[in-house]
Amino acid sequence: MSQAPVGRFAPTPSGRMHLGNVFAALIAWASVRSRGGSLVLRMEDLDTQRTKQEYAEILRSDLLWLGLDWDLETEPQSKRSQVYDRYFEKLEQMDLLYPCYCTRSQLHSVNAPHLSDGCYVYPGTCRNLTEQQRAAFGRAPAWRVKVPDRLWSLEDLAQGHYELNLSTECGDFVVRRADGVYVYQLAVTVDDGEAGVTEVVRGLDLLSSAPRQMYLQELLGFSHPTYGHVPMLLASDGRRLSKRDKDLDLGYLRSHTTPQKVIGVLSCAAGLTDTPEPLSAAEFAQIFRWENLSGDAIYLEPSAVF
Ligand SMILES: [Zn+2]
Repeated sequence: MSQAPVGRFAPTPSGRMHLGNVFAALIAWASVRSRGGSLVLRMEDLDTQRTKQEYAEILRSDLLWLGLDWDLETEPQSKRSQVYDRYFEKLEQMDLLYPCYCTRSQLHSVNAPHLSDGCYVYPGTCRNLTEQQRAAFGRAPAWRVKVPDRLWSLEDLAQGHYELNLSTECGDFVVRRADGVYVYQLAVTVDDGEAGVTEVVRGLDLLSSAPRQMYLQELLGFSHPTYGHVPMLLASDGRRLSKRDKDLDLGYLRSHTTPQKVIGVLSCAAGLTDTPEPLSAAEFAQIFRWENLSGDAIYLEPSAVF
């Protein structure tokens, strides 16, 4: 007998949700709720320059307006640096970390961004510096984790088989920045692991992050969750719908339409229903099946619909 799944919402409180975020949140919720599972909410606010408390409040209200609820909200990432310290020390004790003094321009001059998230393949410049060389820099370093030459593979609920060799496609990656802030990859691994998350559903732009997280999960003693990277929502000209399209965010939608209409339109655009007939979140959960969701981009011209 399999256990009830634990899913999560992990929004970044830097603005209103756009339709792409809504779609990912809807699928995350429906996948878990349709099997009697629970959801955790967590604010990913590591970047304190860009994130605001007011936005966290609005995000909660927007999710509830859509009919997407959760069972527990865990501590925001900005409050957890001491927790991340413990896991960082664990990696240090395994002798897997080393300081990197490369500047941004040095890193960018070596090669072009590789993975979809703009990750550069790190050539290992600082892997074997001597203590003397390290001291000569006279400034705080970023810390990288050494990656093995090994293939990581996963069976994604939406994208199917995916595999990546971190050593050739990414290189040793940063887990803590020079200013002491932990990076997304470490924080998300620790947060999902400690919250017992068994299913991670998010946008396709994060698929290439999954192998880095799987590697950290293995090192830090967490089980691998199931992954579902939902397709991106594109406008008919191929432009990705983003927070920049101000008129399409939840602020606009809440004052111009209903949550049932938003869900109905998204469901139809994704090919999950034949017509854009309004649907509540609960009705959507009843009809949603992963096998009916294609991994390909979804085209939607929001201004023509709402
Ligand atoms: Zn370096």
